[in-house]
Amino acid sequence: MARPSIVWFRDDLRLADNPALRAAIDRGEPIIALYVLDEESPGVRALGGAARWWLHHSLASLGERLRERGATLVLRRGPAAQVVREFVTDASAGAVFWNRRYGGPERTIDAALKAGLREDDVEVASFAGSLLFEPWTVTTGAGTHFSVFTPFWRACLALPAPRSPLPEPREVDGVRQAPASDSLDDWGLLPQHPDWAGGLRETWEPGEPAARRRLRDFLDHDLAAYDRARDEPAAGATSLLSPRLRWGEVSPHTVWHETVGAGHGGRFLSELGWREFAWHTLFHFPGLATESLRPEFDAFPWPPLDRTRLEAWQRGRTGIPLVDAGMHELWTTGYMHNRVRMVASSFLVKNLLIDWRHGEQWFWDTLVDADEANNPFNWQWVAGSGADAAPYFRVFNPELQAKKFDPDGRYIREWTAGTPSETIDPLVDLGESRKAALAAYERVKRGARA
Ligand code: FAD
Repeated sequence: MARPSIVWFRDDLRLADNPALRAAIDRGEPIIALYVLDEESPGVRALGGAARWWLHHSLASLGERLRERGATLVLRRGPAAQVVREFVTDASAGAVFWNRRYGGPERTIDAALKAGLREDDVEVASFAGSLLFEPWTVTTGAGTHFSVFTPFWRACLALPAPRSPLPEPREVDGVRQAPASDSLDDWGLLPQHPDWAGGLRETWEPGEPAARRRLRDFLDHDLAAYDRARDEPAAGATSLLSPRLRWGEVSPHTVWHETVGAGHGGRFLSELGWREFAWHTLFHFPGLATESLRPEFDAFPWPPLDRTRLEAWQRGRTGIPLVDAGMHELWTTGYMHNRVRMVASSFLVKNLLIDWRHGEQWFWDTLVDADEANNPFNWQWVAGSGADAAPYFRVFNPELQAKKFDPDGRYIREWTAGTPSETIDPLVDLGESRKAALAAYERVKRGARA
């Protein structure tokens, strides 16, 4: 009797260039596609609100595309290791395939599950689908992982080039009677009371087809100006691929090869390199979201949390136009331009003296591209405690940044028009607060030397 193959989808919600799906098709038995919403396993970080919104729509799109090709996406909820193992038994499956994850708790789950399934005599195989280079393949001469980006990326580029993307399957041969699925609507991933997702709906179309269209559009129309205009938030010059990469609607391999094919993409590809660097850092340092990568920063003398200030920052009411514009863009669309992310996060940490973890959590809840590597990695970079971080004494001046990157004020006008930040006074004096931050950082430095 045929023992079906299960493809366990995770952060790879696509059909094209999906090695796990390809392996299942090659095995030749009927296929069941599975997605598990795991909010219970120890250490797995519960998704933020904007991420849940994206996930809902991306799963709806994936389910539809699988159905058109002949297979069913089954949804289940619960601790993944247990749910998958029971599912495999109930479905009398002969094989399970997935693409690898690189966070600590996820790797623990996957390793235990792999061992358990093999004991049950089920074939299991995992694949590289979400990163261009596997973290254990990029090491220094001494066999350790890199803590500085430039040599890291040079080492990546010296490895064999990322494999070519796999073609999208035209058919996925499903089982005749698919196991029961949860209803996506019952998962309650979409906000309801209140429904704050209007701006997200206007801005984004989740799902693989839109991701592929966006990649083509970017390469055809924006790549040529990317190096020049990528830092200008009003220019619309960046790819907007971050949520698509976060959810795996398009693979980094596809982005890599199509960019290489389009020519002059070195700078853009190095941004994908930062994504790799963040994920490799998480792989080697699973506590990235909570612990300073440089332990001496744990001694940073954070003042007691000033909730009023934190809230003013979250709501875009700091009186600093570029920061407020960014925070409004984030709240409305689930996205913020990279330059503005740097300025807004630096302002929180270095002018308001609020622990970066509070900012990281807010971004985690509000970004559609929030992921467990890029978000804490970049926050630590800004705070000065991270890998290849901005030096602690680099305090972005939001006014100079605005002059340089938004000279005609277009971005600021777009996102602050009609909001209180047009009229309110700055929450802090930029010069004074900068001095206070530098004094606090001095204490960390002295502690490190002592
Ligand atoms: P592009 O400029 O078109 O870059 C292409 C791709 O490269 C991006 O889609 C992204 O996958 C990757 N990339 C670009 N810059 C970075 C970077 N600095 N670090 C890692 N990868 C990068 N990015 C996330 O994907 N998720 C996050 O949760 C996230 N949190 C951030 C928090 C802070 C405080 C800061 C300063 C940056 C954060 N970033 C995060 C990085 C960056 O801001 C976004 O990846 C970028 O703005 C996405 O827009 P884009 O796709 O148009 O980028």
